Amino acid sequence: MPVSKEFSNRLKALPEYLFVEIDRAKKEVQARGADVIDLGIVDPDLPTPDAIIRAMERGINNPANHQYPTNYGMIEFRREIAAWYARRFGVQLDPATEVLPILGSKEGIGHIPLAFVNPGDVVLVPDPGYPVYRAGTVIAGGDPYSMGLLEENGFLPVFDDIPSEIAKRARLMFINYPNNPTAAVASEEFFRQAVRFAETNDIIVCHDAAYSEMSYDGYVSPSFLAVEGAKEVGIEFNSLSKTFNMTGWRVGFAVGNAKILAGLAKVKSNVDSGMFQALQVAGIAALTEGLSEFRTRQMATYQRRRDLLCDGLNAMGWKIEKPKGGLCVWARLPGNVTSSAASMDCLRKAAVVITPGTGFGRYGEGYVRLSLTCPEERISEAVKRIGPVYSEWTKATS
Ligand SMILES: *Cc1c(COP(=O)(O)O)cnc(C)c1O
Repeated sequence: MPVSKEFSNRLKALPEYLFVEIDRAKKEVQARGADVIDLGIVDPDLPTPDAIIRAMERGINNPANHQYPTNYGMIEFRREIAAWYARRFGVQLDPATEVLPILGSKEGIGHIPLAFVNPGDVVLVPDPGYPVYRAGTVIAGGDPYSMGLLEENGFLPVFDDIPSEIAKRARLMFINYPNNPTAAVASEEFFRQAVRFAETNDIIVCHDAAYSEMSYDGYVSPSFLAVEGAKEVGIEFNSLSKTFNMTGWRVGFAVGNAKILAGLAKVKSNVDSGMFQALQVAGIAALTEGLSEFRTRQMATYQRRRDLLCDGLNAMGWKIEKPKGGLCVWARLPGNVTSSAASMDCLRKAAVVITPGTGFGRYGEGYVRLSLTCPEERISEAVKRIGPVYSEWTKATS
């Protein structure tokens, strides 16, 4: 008798991960011989700085790092993360209890609902939003509730609009600034509102700060933990992925409330065995050296790309405000063009991959996301190719 391979109900309730589908469509177009430009996924195209690679080599060559790491991470790495949070954000953290290395922030975000959400509990998720907030919630048996991020509200959730019976059932809330996919940024005043809302309704706040270091025009992102009371209600996720071009390395950390981190650590200690210590040695180097020259150069590169893309699209008639943070551009489509029609058109007619806004939730309808992790000449070429597609849309809707 063949063994049943039917997926669990929990897995069946999950959509296929967004980029798996897009990748399939992209391969079809490539198979026809097209030179596809990928502005789909946000994945830094530039290499990891040499100083970090050299530290990794030192870490690999030390046999002490070849054994199981400790679940809580090396104290030296945790101290370095705490020191960076103090320097960069003015946030004081106890390295022993308020810092937890994770295998990329996606891993921590995906696992945190398992620690605090019972079946039927509500988790407040930004919509549009990084798909992992919703997926982690569903895996834990929770009920995701979409907090719509609307342009007229600066893509910030409006806590007063959340029905009180939902707020009462909510256990956890995810927020994320600089935001993916809207590229919006948040003020400390917004974080203070989040703390008050969490205190009133007894909700744990998880702030995803993966893009904290990606900002333009002199803007500097605050930490959620820098506002009063935040460390009593929440944690912040951060990562080396975007800051140091290290998406492949899987080095992230969660910081903040000790009890919340202990819950996440308990989940993790049962399913993984911590982070390869050589990676932690590399992480120490990244944060100690700071690599300010590299970072200045890198952000200048992204800013040129952002300007090239926004100016190019605006010249055809789009109305895009240049984002202050993040690594993408969130663009409103003309007329009634839907997100999925727009991204299919761009792929089939222009051989440019852009992500449909609906891939991030229903409030993403009417938008597309374009990534800045692509060289300038490719961005220019993409703009050229999108031009005729865009005029078709405006003609069809006028
Ligand atoms: C890229 C990204 C992350 C970071 O992922 P890692 O797992 O740390 O590589 C987290 N949140 C958002 C919103 C992202 O876009």
